[in-house]
Amino acid sequence: MEFRFSSNVERLQSSAVRDILKLTQGKEIISFAGGLPAEELFPLEAVRDAAERVFKSGNNTLQYGLTEGYLPLREQLCGRMAKKNMHVEPHEMIMTTGSQQAIDLITRVLMEPGDVVLVENPTYLASLQVFNLSGLRIVPVASDNDGMIISEAERLIKQLQPKLIYVVPTFGNPTARVWSEERRRGLLDLSHRYGIAILEDDPYGDIKFDETEDYPTLFALEDKADGGNVLYTSTFSKTVAPALRTGWAMGSSSVISMMAKAKQAADLHSSTLDQQTLDQLLRHYDLDAHIGTIRGAYGDRMQQMQRLLKAQGWSDVKWEQPKGGMFLWLELPEGLDAAALLRSAVTKNVAFVPGAAFYAAEPQRNTARLNFTFTTGERMATGIARFAEALNEFLARC
Ligand code: PMP
Repeated sequence: MEFRFSSNVERLQSSAVRDILKLTQGKEIISFAGGLPAEELFPLEAVRDAAERVFKSGNNTLQYGLTEGYLPLREQLCGRMAKKNMHVEPHEMIMTTGSQQAIDLITRVLMEPGDVVLVENPTYLASLQVFNLSGLRIVPVASDNDGMIISEAERLIKQLQPKLIYVVPTFGNPTARVWSEERRRGLLDLSHRYGIAILEDDPYGDIKFDETEDYPTLFALEDKADGGNVLYTSTFSKTVAPALRTGWAMGSSSVISMMAKAKQAADLHSSTLDQQTLDQLLRHYDLDAHIGTIRGAYGDRMQQMQRLLKAQGWSDVKWEQPKGGMFLWLELPEGLDAAALLRSAVTKNVAFVPGAAFYAAEPQRNTARLNFTFTTGERMATGIARFAEALNEFLARC
């Protein structure tokens, strides 16, 4: 039969990143496109030990679990959060299937089709997909290196009465930008004055290259889970491994319990095997030392990619040095369409993500996102040489 799809689905575009990953699979392509963590740094042995402990603990380990998530893991996470000045009780936290599901559930419980959500421009592509799927009106707020421009956000709040503001204030995807504390406080102030919920997405906060730097989360600055406006989500995907598909959300218990109802409809609960494994991992493994290793390695890789790009001597290819996260955000010469550059790059066996996909509106087409965590050493050098060959051909034609 000819299926008639819902209008929300028809609006949905497939993720440009996933499409490129499909294109690159099984070929000799060096890909800077995916947001993939370094595989050689996954704590494989430690996860295996933790899983063995779980399997040894008896048959009930394979039983259905709570929708809100495995309580011992939530209790441990509350302790870890407290060290970052985020004070939260287990009933103010829900475990989710990756932080991606937290974004989806928060959207489902708070938003009606047609409601306005404010976002940074550019912002995380898969959140734009969630908002589109829910039929929201996505309104981008002008942003610079310090974060969202607060006066612009206020102007749009007065004009459009948004119900939600979605932000990635620390090492955002795709730009790796870090919001200044002033902007963080400025947004909180707007949220309180106008009564608007904030969804703070923080998958990369731990991946900071200078561990003495402190970037307080909006959740910590507000310091009020119950009755607060900030709903916070993070994940084990970048610090342990994405395959465990374990993230969490925290905030007002009224929202958390509503999310639990929506989650029952979605998947009853996230994998208890994965959650119990993470619980054991946190008990018997020094995750903070592991995070230290990741920070060091990713910082080195970022420096290597920068050196390779700088060595090309381009005067009109610009980027800010990332202070953390997994991406370099390039601004290419004006007028250059990064999507066309990608097509040519793929013929030279190298891939990246053209920046336009990350904009809710008014895309800046001469931008590109390069991942520096997955491809290393000689392979990174070869990949950047291929990228440079493609770009130089474009520049020669301009
Ligand atoms: N938010 C942002 C900004 C991300 O970059 C990602 C991963 N690409 C996620 C959320 C989702 O991660 P996960 O579902 O693996 O926790």
